Amino acid sequence: MCRHLAYLGPPVTLASLVLDPPHSLYKQSWSPSDMRGGGTVNADGFGLGWYVDDEAVRYRRSVPVWADENLPGLARSIRSGAVLAAVRNGTTGMPLGEGAAAPFVHGRWLFSHNGLIRGWPGSLTKLAEGLPVTDLLTLDAPVDSALLWALIVQQLTAGVPAADAVASVVQNVEEAAPGSRLNVLLTDGEQLVATTWTHSLWVRRTDDSVAVSSEPWSSDDAWTELPDRTLLTATRYSCSTTPMEGRQ
Ligand code: GLN
Repeated sequence: MCRHLAYLGPPVTLASLVLDPPHSLYKQSWSPSDMRGGGTVNADGFGLGWYVDDEAVRYRRSVPVWADENLPGLARSIRSGAVLAAVRNGTTGMPLGEGAAAPFVHGRWLFSHNGLIRGWPGSLTKLAEGLPVTDLLTLDAPVDSALLWALIVQQLTAGVPAADAVASVVQNVEEAAPGSRLNVLLTDGEQLVATTWTHSLWVRRTDDSVAVSSEPWSSDDAWTELPDRTLLTATRYSCSTTPMEGRQ
């Protein structure tokens, strides 16, 4: 299972989130402490997304994060008040390559998926019928996360609020492909939406920031683990969670 994180708050360097903490995302790539559903390392690519002048910027590679010699220098020189980052452990049978690594981008939106869709790709045939063929042909990669993202983008572009878009797509995918793992992160730089759907997510709040991470990156006790099947919505100043099952 992949590992991912998101942060909203005062501008910080990418390195302070992804490289420097004792149990950073960087470290979680080769030494994760909570892998579920197979896999031991997150070495099938990585990506970071952040904002410059309100525009989402993304850097992603197909190599393990520790193999990118340029990343430390870049991460120390870039600051942002909103960041989403992920390291990938590709699901068996899914393609490798840069296009399969999160974050996926649409306009200001950055997205990451930790998990898998059961019965891929056949199980989503019916759901995918609702997508314009142009969306299917322009997926970043023929990978479950990219199709999940296309389904959410369809809702967002129809004007559905982000939390409702994520919750409804997760529930529809679970119905079509029971037993799927659908832990997602979504931000537009102002708001953050996240789900736990069979894997961990921890939250760390301060007066003016919120961070979520598959695994706590520091050993302080400010981290709280979310229960499974929770929908989190946050800004840098607010954070709320609701159970997803039974949500209308
Ligand atoms: N299924 C997705 C992929 O293959 C996510 C993988 C994961 O969470 N380990 O990229």
